[in-house]
Parts: sequence; C-alpha cells; structure tokens
Amino acid sequence: MIRLADARVPEHAVEAVAAVLRSGQLLAAQECSEFEKELAALLGCGYVVTTSSGTAALHLALLGLDIGPGDAVLVPDFTFPATANAVVATGAVPVVVDVDPGSFTMSATDLERVITSWSGPARLSTVMPVQEFGRCAEMEEILSVADRHGLRVVEDAACALGSSIHGRPAGTWGQAGCFSFHPRKSLTTGEGGAISTDDGAYADRLRRLRNHGMERIDGQLVFTEVGLNYRLTDFQAALGRAQLPALGTMVERRRAVAEAYSAGLRGLLGRGVAQLPEDHPGHTWQTYMVVLEEGVDRARVIEAMRGAGVEANVGAQSLTAIGLYGPTSAEVGPVLDRCGLALPCHHGITNDETRTVVLSLYEALSR
Ligand SMILES: *Cc1c(COP(=O)(O)O)cnc(C)c1O
Repeated sequence: MIRLADARVPEHAVEAVAAVLRSGQLLAAQECSEFEKELAALLGCGYVVTTSSGTAALHLALLGLDIGPGDAVLVPDFTFPATANAVVATGAVPVVVDVDPGSFTMSATDLERVITSWSGPARLSTVMPVQEFGRCAEMEEILSVADRHGLRVVEDAACALGSSIHGRPAGTWGQAGCFSFHPRKSLTTGEGGAISTDDGAYADRLRRLRNHGMERIDGQLVFTEVGLNYRLTDFQAALGRAQLPALGTMVERRRAVAEAYSAGLRGLLGRGVAQLPEDHPGHTWQTYMVVLEEGVDRARVIEAMRGAGVEANVGAQSLTAIGLYGPTSAEVGPVLDRCGLALPCHHGITNDETRTVVLSLYEALSR
C-alpha cells in the first residue's frame, strides 16, 4: 500500500532516541532546549518553545496572550478542527473566515468583510491564519488587514515547518507561530509541537504556562500563575533534532512528488477533477489535495484507489460543514471539504509510486 504518510525515521534518529532512554533522564530538558535553539536558527526567529503537540502550541500561544472568555479569534473555514478547538479551549469564540479557492488559505478579502460586519458581543482580538497543507496564506495582506483593525496575528503553521512566503518563513509573521510534529507533518516527533516568537517576555511566559505556571525564583519553586503541562519529552526532542538537518532534502522530495502529480493529472481536469493544487515557491506540500468535480462519488474513488494499492483520503475539514462552531457564511470551505482528495505525499515516495498513484486516479475516475 502506498500510504498517505510514512513516518519511518532513519536509524541514527532511532539511536538518538535510544541514547536518551538509556540515560534515564527523559525530561531533563537538555535535548528540548537544543531543539528549540536549532528551530529558532532555522526560522530566523528569537525564541522557540517546544510543546507536547501542535494543539497544545495553539492553546498555549493564545493563553500567553490572555485570550479567553469575551474574546473572538478569526480562523479560516478550511483547516483541521484543532485550530478552532484551541480557541474554544481558552473560552474565546472562533469566528469563521472563508478561504481563497486557489490557495485553500484564509481569504484577506473575506477577513476584511467579516471584521467590518462583526457586531459582537465578543471582542475581536486575534487573527489566526492557517498555512494549510504547507502553503502559506497571503500573509502581507492578512497582516495589513489585522494592523488596520488593531488585531494580533497568531499563525497556525502546524503543517508548515520550512514553508515560506515572499522569502519569509511560516511562523515568523505574527506574534507567534505554532507548529506540529505529528507523523503527518514534514518532521515528526510522534506527538509534539512548538511556538516561535520574537518576544522574549512572551516566550518566558509560555515556558512558565507550559510547566504548571511554575518558576524558580532565588532557588525556590514558586507557582506564579495557573498553568498546564504541555512539555515535550527529551526523547521526542532528540528524534526531532536528528531529522532536522534533512528537513530541506525531505521537503525537496515532497516538492518533486507534487510536481509529478500535477504534470500527470493535468489530463483529468474537466474529467472528474475540477482543480489541481496551486504551486507556490514556498510550498512544502504537507498534503497534495486535488478538488474533484461536484457529483463525483469521492468515497468510491477512495475505495477504487485502495483496491489499486493507493491510500487516498479527504483533505481537510470545513468548520461550517462540521457545524460545531457557531454561525458562518463560508462557501468555499464546504466545497473543499466535500470534494477534496488527498494523495500520498511524503519524502519516501518513489517515482514509480507517483506513476501508480496517478494511474490509480485515472482508473478510479474512468469507472
Ligand atoms: C496537524 C494540525 C494541527 C494539530 O496538530 P497536533 O500536533 O496533531 O495537535 C493543528 N492545525 C493544523 C492546521 C494541522 O494541520
């Protein structure tokens, strides 16, 4: 079976994890703090704070900004629901903004529309664009809308480690960037996440909130605020560190897989496929999602591809379609939710396998 994702890690990474396990110090924080420094260097940002998951990163980033009951956070309709769940977990309400049909990311035009027509009662405080599938949103436009309305920006860059737009890395555009190291992402620690920021006081607060609100003051442990346990373990950090130098190579391979798909699938446009994903220089292709034509039975396509040894699946979710996040007027997101088809995309896929995937979709759609 050609899998959607394959998180096999190299032997030296297994060894790095084993070394931490053998040391008996699973939470010594040494590996975590090295991993944080290396990620900060990669992103070119001041500080990185690792977390136990991408969802924890999102929740913590919002808590660190004192977002809670009475606040509203603008999120794109088409995403993984964790984006909105993290907002709800703080006590704030998510406010849904539609996505751009070409990039699948938050539409700056709809953002402006939703902000100007907002009537409360919650106070709009933060915009949380998602760098969906490793493709960055039009961050310059989103930042300019946010600035104009006095809103902060927190990026959900969960699937976008190594991505960039206009040469600037995902995770460095707003107050904070949140990453995930889930096995479906470009670099994995099993579960894991991180927050990037240039604000030192904010990073200190995130570290405190990540560790039960605890601080060491004059050698004494003091609980200075209400916190959580969102720490990453050292063996997870070791796993991440061991793969980090190969991130660029892994992303290049994903890019080649995406290019092969786009070249091979062009003939299906108008014949079951409505749209291929837009290429973009800073795209890291966490997911390669085509949009099927309305009326194509996606479940049957997925089943037929499975029969040919290819794992395909839905792309991402529409918050509107899920229906748990209040009233929304998004129209593009629900279509992508209904018609999106994600193809296997990871650095372990061979050229032969890309051809098998392409052929299996041709065959599935010709039935
Ligand atoms: C993967 C993902 C998350 C959640 O990350 P976890 O590490 O699984 O908690 C959040 N947002 C987006 C856009 C994601 O793709």
